[in-house]
Amino acid sequence: MSVPVKVRFAPSPTGYLHIGGVRTALFNWLFARNHGGKFILRIEDTDLSRSTEESIQEILESMRWLGLDWDEGPFRQTERQEIYSQKVEQLVSAGKAYSCYCTPEELDRKRSEAQKAGLKPKYDGTCRNLSDAPEGVPSVIRFKAPLEGSVVVEDLLRGKVVFDITELDDLIIQRTDGTPTYNFVVVVDDSEMGITHVIRGDDHLSNTPRQCLLYDALGYARPQFSHISMILGQDKARLSKRHGATSALAYRDMGYLPDAMINYLARLGWSHGDQEIFSIKELIEHFSFDSVNTSAAIFDADKLSWVNEQYIQSTPPELLAQRLEPHLVTAGVLAKDHGLNMQEIAKVIPCLKGRAKTLKEMAEKSAFFFKKQVEFDEKAQSKFLTDEVKPLLEKVITGFSALDDFSSDKIESVFKKIVEEENLKLGKLAQPVRVALTGTTVSPGIYDVILLLGKEKTIKRLRDVI
Ligand code: GLU
Repeated sequence: MSVPVKVRFAPSPTGYLHIGGVRTALFNWLFARNHGGKFILRIEDTDLSRSTEESIQEILESMRWLGLDWDEGPFRQTERQEIYSQKVEQLVSAGKAYSCYCTPEELDRKRSEAQKAGLKPKYDGTCRNLSDAPEGVPSVIRFKAPLEGSVVVEDLLRGKVVFDITELDDLIIQRTDGTPTYNFVVVVDDSEMGITHVIRGDDHLSNTPRQCLLYDALGYARPQFSHISMILGQDKARLSKRHGATSALAYRDMGYLPDAMINYLARLGWSHGDQEIFSIKELIEHFSFDSVNTSAAIFDADKLSWVNEQYIQSTPPELLAQRLEPHLVTAGVLAKDHGLNMQEIAKVIPCLKGRAKTLKEMAEKSAFFFKKQVEFDEKAQSKFLTDEVKPLLEKVITGFSALDDFSSDKIESVFKKIVEEENLKLGKLAQPVRVALTGTTVSPGIYDVILLLGKEKTIKRLRDVI
């Protein structure tokens, strides 16, 4: 019987959660869900000088926002020191690791000498076979790597990748302050946590041979590796702020829907025929490494925006209202304590659905509906709200007041009647009414706006303008 799949996402909390990291998390999550396996979250915070609590919280918040739920954790490596010390000790006792007393200055000097001589800087093994340990000198612990041979990494995506051991040197596994280093803890944790598949960015492929040697030295079985390609910007450079936002939460704040983000990122490097829009259920059902691409994925902000629009169109109004609400507050359209329920907020959605690429845009465009006072665009006001339109607006008020059934058809017939009587083009009436009701010349269809505001509010706004 095969071992159930167990994968992990293991971010280092040294900044925000990058969308490249999100895609790594997502591929792990989809793989776990597809196999009915487990997805665990492990915070790799052993580098005390670079890890922050703020970053941990941001990672958790991003994962929750995206719906990437974990089955175990979040584990923090700083809480697992005991096991790492034990494993370091195991290697030292077995003669597979040793204390190194070389000072950073000495190592720097040797490194620059090697560079000058055109050699690859590598630890020269000074302390590898030291018989007399100097007293009172701080030391690191190094792994005693084999001196020759090769390491073959079996990668699910890339096949066999062969590394020459002579290229590797004796890796530091424990710093002078007693904290263990990444390549060591990742091996201990992945083994102790029963990880079956290590799925991560291909920037870690070069670490893998060292890790394989550590698996072997510690007597652990190696997991199955899968190194996924990086996400690059359209100029093929590593994705950076230059290409737009790179933090997951920045996309939330810009008004992207989490499911749209997931859909877009899943398709970056993975495909299923030519299908573009997938429900989460479909992603889980179809995800497989057989259709993951090994070439770099190019981030395309326009496509993300298109995907987001599709999701805005298809998300049920009340669910969309929940997502929209924080944007309404941020945009100052609603007060924090607005007291509206989701049904009330959802009312604005049908008429804005096809008109906004993001929730932020939708929030800004719904100000006319939620704000008590219309905020007028000065240009629109002076152009359209002139003395000549007053009698027209009066006619609209009279027409609307007589309506018992304030339906779209009836509203339209009031407009039609006025333009006929006055011999006007519809725009000559609709535009001033639009400005009177919304403050601007751009809004959803005028009948939709009127219907949404309702008879009472519409008449009041027209009166106020007159
Ligand atoms: N902590 C590493 C990082 O954030 C990931 C390690 C791994 O996936 O093996 O890059």
